[in-house]
Amino acid sequence: MPSETPALEPCGSTWARSHDYTARELVRPRSVEDVRDLVLREPKVRALGSRHSFTDLADTPGVLVSLDGLGGSPSLADDIVRVPGGMRYGELAEWLQSHGRALPNLASLPHISIAGAVATGTHGSGLRNGSLATSVTALELVDGRGDLVRLEAGSADFEGAVVGLGALGIVTHLELRTEPTFQVTQTVHEGLSYADLQEHLVEILSAAYSVSIFTRWTDESDGSVARVWQKSRTTPAEIPGTVPATLAHHVVPDLDPAPCTDQLGVAGLWHERLPHFRPDFEPSVGDELQSEYLVPLDRAHEAVSAVRSLADRVRPLLMVCEIRTVAADRLWLSPAYGTDTVGLHFTWKPDATGVRELLPDLEERLPAGTRPHWGKLFATTDPGASFPHWDDFKELVGRFDPDRRFWNAWLARVMG
Ligand SMILES: Cc1cc2nc3c(=O)[nH]c(=O)nc-3n(C[C@H](O)[C@H](O)[C@H](O)COP(=O)(O)OP(=O)(O)OC[C@H]3O[C@@H](n4cnc5c(N)ncnc54)[C@H](O)[C@@H]3O)c2cc1C
Repeated sequence: MPSETPALEPCGSTWARSHDYTARELVRPRSVEDVRDLVLREPKVRALGSRHSFTDLADTPGVLVSLDGLGGSPSLADDIVRVPGGMRYGELAEWLQSHGRALPNLASLPHISIAGAVATGTHGSGLRNGSLATSVTALELVDGRGDLVRLEAGSADFEGAVVGLGALGIVTHLELRTEPTFQVTQTVHEGLSYADLQEHLVEILSAAYSVSIFTRWTDESDGSVARVWQKSRTTPAEIPGTVPATLAHHVVPDLDPAPCTDQLGVAGLWHERLPHFRPDFEPSVGDELQSEYLVPLDRAHEAVSAVRSLADRVRPLLMVCEIRTVAADRLWLSPAYGTDTVGLHFTWKPDATGVRELLPDLEERLPAGTRPHWGKLFATTDPGASFPHWDDFKELVGRFDPDRRFWNAWLARVMG
């Protein structure tokens, strides 16, 4: 029996206000049975997470489904935690910590939903850290026939379904591998020159458990072009040509560092250091856009040179650029599929026209094998060319969603 008629409410927009959802209505089912009824009833339906992607990726002409109302707590069995589909990383991190457990990595902010982050291949940084989706050991989803399907690591379809773009169904629960809680220190290093950035790029990105290089591609009078954020589980390595900062910094130079996690090498719990931003602060009010390109690690130098060659056009649109790493995985639509990658992330000013005009030129200069972040802005109409399992994924979509209930304008544009 459905527990209650879901409430009707306006659909609103993405967190960054970069897209107003055009869906007919937003509903918050209270049970998995409600989700199944909804999928069977509605010809067009789509899961909505925490709205942190920047496009119409989550949109539908029909009904948007938020799993906020599903409720339920996490539960632990050995090292595996089971979480409801609407839960956010920040909530889970506090819960895990209270049980002495941790996740291996987190993205830059803890406010994002687990299901949405996993569906888009969202990641933190670290040469040995896979994307957040690589912690998933099982997921349960309501497919396009209204069936509740459980997929476990090692089973057929699992590697295709985890980074699923919301195209295969509505994920109601996920299971994630955890590890014992650990401590991290965070130190910002200042004064990285362009020459050191190019010459020691991989060395710098390997210099701690998680490393992010922040730059605006401007040369300061002292030759420094970037700061390096180093998050270490052990004694951190030195970073060539830099000195540890003695004051805390925001990721965007000159902004107040108050929303950022503690730095200056003071040890703290994993979930209070791995994200750049604190859970009790919104990192900004959403007046930004983002793009990110995942480049094979062995072509990272070329990618950095490519961005530098466009610096005069990038700089006026840019709030900050972050360079970080994601370890290779086997998830079909993961931008790190089969290769260690360097992520070139751009936080843009909210100039949608300017960014739209720049992206095709930027993408043309990036090395072959570059893949876009699914949740952010990109221009290519043929991203599938760099994903070996692209056609297999399309076949999976056909099987899981034969009536195309989850199909939307974004998928039509990107998958054809
Ligand atoms: C300020 C900011 C910082 C960011 N930092 C990072 C970062 O550090 N690293 C990084 O990689 N990305 C980052 N991103 C991008 C962003 O984190 C991801 O795109 C985001 O996590 C998507 O999750 P969401 O819950 O917001 O999903 P939404 O935007 O709501 O939806 C995205 C996709 O997920 C699907 N989805 C959501 N929930 C479900 C579900 N239950 N079942 C099936 N499909 C579902 C939707 O259908 C849609 O296709 C950042 C974004 C912002 C705004």
